[in-house]
Amino acid sequence: MIIQVAIAIPVNSLFDYLAPDGIDAISPGCRVLVPFGKHKKVGFVISTSENSDVNTDRLKPIIEILDTSPLISEKDIQLLSWASRYYHYPLGEVFSAAFPVSLRKGKKAQLSQEKHYKISAKGECLNPDQLKRTPKQKQIFELFLPPVTSLSSKQLSQQDKNWRPAVKSLLEKDLLTIELQAKALSHSASIPEKALQANEQQTQAINQLSAQLGQFSVTLLEGITGSGKTEVYMQVIQQVLDLGQQVLVLLPEITLTPQLEDRFKRRFSVGISRSHSKLTDPQRLSAWLEMQQGHSSILLGTRSALFTPLKKPGLIILDEEHDSSFKQQEGFRFSARDLAIVRGKILNIPVILGTATPSLESLYNAQNKRYQLLHLSERAGVAIKPQFLLFDIRNQQLQDGLSPPLIAQIKKTLAKKEQVLLFLNRRGFAPVQICHSCAWVARCHHCDTSLVIHFDERRLRCHHCGYQQHLSNQCPSCKTGELKPLGLGTERVEKSLHALFPTQKVVRLDRDSTQRKGALEEHLEQINQGKVDIILGTQMLAKGHHFPNVTLVAILDVDSGLFSIDFHATEKLAQLIIQVAGRAGRAEKPGKVILQTRQPAHPLLTVLLKDGYNSFAQSALVERQQAMLPPYSSQALLRVYATNPIDPQNLLKRVCEIIQNMETHNTLVLGPVSAPMAKRAGNYHFQLLLQNNQRKYLQLLLDQLIPEIYRLKEAKKVRWSLDVDPVDLY
Ligand code: ADP
Ligand code: ZN
Ligand code: ZN
Repeated sequence: MIIQVAIAIPVNSLFDYLAPDGIDAISPGCRVLVPFGKHKKVGFVISTSENSDVNTDRLKPIIEILDTSPLISEKDIQLLSWASRYYHYPLGEVFSAAFPVSLRKGKKAQLSQEKHYKISAKGECLNPDQLKRTPKQKQIFELFLPPVTSLSSKQLSQQDKNWRPAVKSLLEKDLLTIELQAKALSHSASIPEKALQANEQQTQAINQLSAQLGQFSVTLLEGITGSGKTEVYMQVIQQVLDLGQQVLVLLPEITLTPQLEDRFKRRFSVGISRSHSKLTDPQRLSAWLEMQQGHSSILLGTRSALFTPLKKPGLIILDEEHDSSFKQQEGFRFSARDLAIVRGKILNIPVILGTATPSLESLYNAQNKRYQLLHLSERAGVAIKPQFLLFDIRNQQLQDGLSPPLIAQIKKTLAKKEQVLLFLNRRGFAPVQICHSCAWVARCHHCDTSLVIHFDERRLRCHHCGYQQHLSNQCPSCKTGELKPLGLGTERVEKSLHALFPTQKVVRLDRDSTQRKGALEEHLEQINQGKVDIILGTQMLAKGHHFPNVTLVAILDVDSGLFSIDFHATEKLAQLIIQVAGRAGRAEKPGKVILQTRQPAHPLLTVLLKDGYNSFAQSALVERQQAMLPPYSSQALLRVYATNPIDPQNLLKRVCEIIQNMETHNTLVLGPVSAPMAKRAGNYHFQLLLQNNQRKYLQLLLDQLIPEIYRLKEAKKVRWSLDVDPVDLY
């Protein structure tokens, strides 16, 4: 028997091995240890067959079968194989991405275990009265009598702090035995919170979603921030749990939304696991196995949690579906949103995509009736919608980005003892350091970019490669000029706020201020306890937080998002504005949202504020259609880089020649061009964009092209990658 094995190496083929002696069946989904070159590698069994393309004399036998039963199902193998074909990424690497690190390394697929004590066979025949001469032992022994089956150390300690000596004696007398059991999950609330009384729109959504359980469907739940989407999820989840099935909930970033996890824990008395990149590998392994073995019923996770095996799959929810963090931007560049739908289809279960600001792709699919569309257009409970104001800052005297009318609004809000949230999507003090007399600019030697001033640390840092140097005041070029900060970062605004409002507490939330473990949680805690007056931060703030006492939100610089060469930029800006605005006035107090701009008549801003996100999205879709951009076409971006600018261009020229000799079905070939930021971390980046109005033709082309690229000698000198459905042309 020949076993086809996927191995995590950058080669797009499977490897054939012989079954070990005496073994005549290995199930797909098991891991095996195989000889590979001079090394041993962990591989994943994909299939078995009678024959091989390779002469069987040259095949080597598998060294060891690592799992007695498959770790993932046939359907999940189907999913991963689909993903490998669609993203043109080696199957072994795709498999590897779906498994926790320790399983990739061949460790046992076993939950961590703990000791449990129970009555032995001999103990069963004992009348506890026979222990009356050792009263402590009698007392402890009686803790184990039915209906109790077994007790862990922790459970024993809860009943009697001093249990150890007695248990030791009972073990010696063979009256108790030890059993290893999977570590119990910390189950949530013993008395779960009741569901809220759903309002009319919620009820309608819940009813429609309930009707879809048990079969594949995709629903786009478009609900404004605070409209009670989470409540809808929870009521549908309850029905899935009642059917004895599991739910996979994918979020952009869990660490930023601890409130959601708390709500789930209060509501459901089932095992809830979580999986995201900040966890240790043993923690991720536990979550993976808890779902695989059915100990947990709910998994909250970020994009890579999509691949977690489910014993009894019932529902997949993707919250904030528009968020670009669902697209992996390096290595296996998959979209968790798109693959969630593929998985839902394979597993025949419903998929819910929720957001206040749907991606244009999802809206397009809803309009084409590929997805069901549900609306929640009112805020749930008592909260009312915020009011939007555009502040024209042309000819205004700005104080580090703050216009006088904005400062007045901040004062007014603070006087009412309400909180202010200021948004600026740039960390550091200022993005540029420039010489006042000769205009020299501090630039990164490794990247095509300027160095960012970090005043607190007295350093200049490159935000692209991590290069850093000391901050100096004197121009290295003309030796006399004074160096000045140019532009605005959160650190600079923070300083200004301290000067303007010396008695108020200001908290800055960005990657720098939350680097220390636990720092973010501390800041959030302070904000929620009302100890903070002004919250200032980057896009971290746009994601899912509830700040009930925030009634004024201001976006300091909208314009930086209005002019970008990437066609995705306007969509992202509109989503960001609505998401940040959604943080205002979530409780009973009305909120106000101020946008500072030098482009008060820009159509994006006027449509968005006057008619709402949906009108914006409709006009953006019209623009995309006129330009035949996604979702009206499909794209794939071939990126190449090397330490010299020649080799990448040579490869891309070669690729263009190959394409010219192929049937391309009118595929547009744009490039080769240098990447928008050509030099990064000492490498020269070039790219080639392929676009076709029909996805299948683009895929056909890639099917032929990618294996050719693997064979090209020009490809060996560079690093290259393919990005199917890129969300970022950078
Ligand atoms: P979203 O997820 O759409 O932002 P949430 O589900 O977080 O909205 O709901 C926003 C707030 O409204 C929460 O505080 C929630 O408890 C409350 N809420 C949701 N649904 C209801 C309801 N039917 N009745 C009363 N309050 C509700
Ligand atoms: Zn100078
Ligand atoms: Zn750099």
